[in-house]
Amino acid sequence: MTSTFDLPQRLLLGAGPSQTTDRVLRALGSPTLGHLDPAFGELLDDLSARLRTVFRTENRVAFPVSGTGSAGMETMVANLVSPGDRVICGIHGLFGERMADELARHGAHVVRVEGEWGRAIPLELMTEATKDGFDAMFVVHAETSTGVAQPLDGLADLCRANDALLLVDCVTSLGGHRLELDAWGVDAAFSGTQKCLNVPPGLAPFTLGPRAVAKAETVDCPSWYFDLSLVLGYWSGDGGRAYHHTAPINLIYGLHEGLGDVIEEGLEARWARHERAHGALLRAVRALGLERLAPEGEQLNSLLAVRIPEGVDDAAVRGSLLLEDGIEISGGVGKFAGSVWRLGVMGFGANPEPQRRLVEALAKRLGHEPADALAELDAGWTSD
Ligand SMILES: *Cc1c(COP(=O)(O)O)cnc(C)c1O
Repeated sequence: MTSTFDLPQRLLLGAGPSQTTDRVLRALGSPTLGHLDPAFGELLDDLSARLRTVFRTENRVAFPVSGTGSAGMETMVANLVSPGDRVICGIHGLFGERMADELARHGAHVVRVEGEWGRAIPLELMTEATKDGFDAMFVVHAETSTGVAQPLDGLADLCRANDALLLVDCVTSLGGHRLELDAWGVDAAFSGTQKCLNVPPGLAPFTLGPRAVAKAETVDCPSWYFDLSLVLGYWSGDGGRAYHHTAPINLIYGLHEGLGDVIEEGLEARWARHERAHGALLRAVRALGLERLAPEGEQLNSLLAVRIPEGVDDAAVRGSLLLEDGIEISGGVGKFAGSVWRLGVMGFGANPEPQRRLVEALAKRLGHEPADALAELDAGWTSD
């Protein structure tokens, strides 16, 4: 790679962005086409098909919103929530809290369901919140702030019984942790490119099912940029593509390629690899005295959040990992600022080689011999 600015080499193993693969980097560098070029239109159709595959959905509407993951959140709320709607919002980390803020800004009546940070929200708590009726329910499937995967079992039934929509943030699960939108009855979901897809930040994979499409038709969208009735004039393709805003052409090449990677590997195989990678890294870091926040069974395979041991200087360790070892990990956020590290297990990062580099460097920074931890890592990858 050439740049007029001298960029350092880094291995990105934090909460995102994740490492961009060479394959994706090459795709990003392809010649820019016009956004109305029919050849680009064919790529867009294929991109939507790939998104349906990785989202496990047959939804007609599946496209990337222009903007990072949060732009997907904005699109969801601006098009599916009217002022005064009762929206149940599950909050068990930073991203649930962010959604509650977003909903309130759009005039929703937010019914907060607060779970413990670092745990999944019990179904009983969500059920309890439905007793006064509601228009939509939102949960974060993959809480990147705590490394917890929220089970969606039972939520679609609650929503159907109330003629309400089930809305999901799957930014850090898409392509890394089992996600089956249609089977789970999800009506709308958004994701991001820079977590398990190993594509740079800047697009938000997004999908809407038929019930959500029907609701969107009744909502007066307050945003021009994210108004689906305008945006889909470009993305739906039928009857020609109408210009709304210029599509981020090269980033779309990158996403198309990143999704190709996921599909070639196969979703089941990819989920299994992330599960194995998470387990192997956990064994290794336990040998270094670190403990996972999430209890067994509630962990998010694509993100391992661990408690920082007593007496260890968070900033000093992360600083030397980055500047001396060239490895980025993430600190804690919100309630866990200063007490937690977040280790990404995302796509490229869910492989033995990058994990070995991380474990060796962490061992050195924590004053351990790396041998035991590396043996645990290897055992985690090879055991059945
Ligand atoms: C990263 C992330 C987001 C926000 O995505 P941006 O790309 O930073 O806008 C939202 N939700 C979750 C769970 C995330 O991990």
